[in-house]
Amino acid sequence: MFLNSYASYKYTRVVLMRPLYEMKLIQIEITNACVLRCANCTRFVGHHRKPFFMDVETFTNALDSLEGFPGHIGIMGGEPTLHPQLPWTTGLHKWEQYKPILSETFDKERIAYNDHSQPDGVHQPLLVAAEDVIKDKKLMWELIDNCWVQMRWSASITPKGAFFCEVAAAADHLFDGPGGYPVEKGWWKKTPKEFADQVQRYCPKCSAAIPIPSYSDKAKHDLVSKSNFERLKRVMSPKYFAGNATLYDKEITVKDLENEKLATKQNYRTFVAHGPEDYPEYLRRKKANSGSTAAATAPSGA
Ligand code: SF4
Repeated sequence: MFLNSYASYKYTRVVLMRPLYEMKLIQIEITNACVLRCANCTRFVGHHRKPFFMDVETFTNALDSLEGFPGHIGIMGGEPTLHPQLPWTTGLHKWEQYKPILSETFDKERIAYNDHSQPDGVHQPLLVAAEDVIKDKKLMWELIDNCWVQMRWSASITPKGAFFCEVAAAADHLFDGPGGYPVEKGWWKKTPKEFADQVQRYCPKCSAAIPIPSYSDKAKHDLVSKSNFERLKRVMSPKYFAGNATLYDKEITVKDLENEKLATKQNYRTFVAHGPEDYPEYLRRKKANSGSTAAATAPSGA
């Protein structure tokens, strides 16, 4: 894989994106409402003027569409317990109070609760458009073709349809995109060729695949490139108008790929645990990697 050998970098486009049927997990996003406002949230919380709540019929249809999918199905937010309609949710964010009913409804080993209270939590910025900061388009597409999120995270269903990537789904919602694929049986069998239209639409506007510093999720500011500043303005982002967006306009070149401080999570998060069967490997890797310096510091003003 070229990402392990930047020094001998050559333009050889190797598309490593996975067919959706090979994913370990597909998310059903029932809301993007959240009580937190983390920096660089993958759901762009803080930028929406109004959160969405998936209706029950759409949720049921989403579940039906995944019949036969060999991986896991996730129920995701935002903060899913804020959803006022679905039977196991409450409309109130009271995790401790409702933990028993959630544990009765689902296999408790498979409830992933992340309240972002860990002091060392970091997020990689997602609003630095690759096309704004990488002039070399071959390099840009090679990085996108190897995006760590697509390789290790999930496809997603939102009220606007089905998406090959959960970050693309969130971007479509934030920026009033055209929506995803129809949520019908078997949509998850798509190959990279069959979801290339979504890759083309969302990835050049995203920064998950490019080498850019991650920083504390407790910061107030998101890092945003020029064209996404304009897009945030157009959608009247409250976070943008509150001044909580910092411009990132540094050009990224092949040389940057050798800079450990600019590394993406690609370099230091080579594995994602999706269920209990992955936890031993997760803990083994975490122990082996303790002391890693890959996460960068917050930008000024954050
Ligand atoms: S570049 Fe962004 S939109 Fe494209 S696959 Fe990666 S995370 Fe998803």
